[in-house]
Amino acid sequence: AVEARDVVLSFGETPALRGATVAVAPGEIVAIMGPSGSGKSTLLHCLAGILVPDTGEIHFDGRRIDTLNENQRSILRRDRFGFVFQSGQLVPELTAEENVALPLLLNGMKRAAALKEARPWFERLDLTGLERRRSGELSGGQAQRVALARGLVARPGALFADEPTGALDSLTGEQVMDLLVSSARDEGTTVVLVTHDARVAAYADRQVIVRDGKVNALVSA
Ligand code: ATP
Ligand code: MG
Repeated sequence: AVEARDVVLSFGETPALRGATVAVAPGEIVAIMGPSGSGKSTLLHCLAGILVPDTGEIHFDGRRIDTLNENQRSILRRDRFGFVFQSGQLVPELTAEENVALPLLLNGMKRAAALKEARPWFERLDLTGLERRRSGELSGGQAQRVALARGLVARPGALFADEPTGALDSLTGEQVMDLLVSSARDEGTTVVLVTHDARVAAYADRQVIVRDGKVNALVSA
């Protein structure tokens, strides 16, 4: 489970979160929606232990994580979390398969074993043949699918995704969401994703809206 309790965070004079509370159950997929500038990415970064709130609490699997130090949080992120962000996230000098294998290599797996684990993701994400391509030489949509594979390859306890289908056409976006949903189901991964796209959000178990730095449950008509 991933949880924010009454989280307040400002960037200098700019308030980004003003008492945001949300709880995502183990294996649940929650879509965070809301207007630009409302605090969605900031909330995601707090839940993922990247940003530390000014006040309030962040919990992961029953453990408070906002009080951990920088080093402890980076170990937690490396060992238990996966990330998919909109762009500029792959290492351009590495091949696509090395990028996918990276979380496993960082966890100490041997290179050959890590590349072997990475391989089936290329078929799953319709990327067959691109394994050895430098990631700087992929299209935007291909790079985003490689990033998704990298986010899931280590079977994280929680996956945090900011606009994971932003560079994809709607068909590829649907394939990516199908894969994300089945991975979450099969592995029990908790998924928190930010999206502007109502069709993408429809794949989630639940949608929440962030407005002015606070979380509102979606009231359906
Ligand atoms: P978008 O849909 O455009 O991505 P968002 O809902 O993700 O928007 P955030 O990025 O969380 O919005 O930003 C919330 C508020 O915090 C905004 O007013 C934004 O300008 C401000 N903000 C975000 N990051 C920073 C930063 N690094 N420094 C200063 N202000 C920031
Ligand atoms: Mg954002």
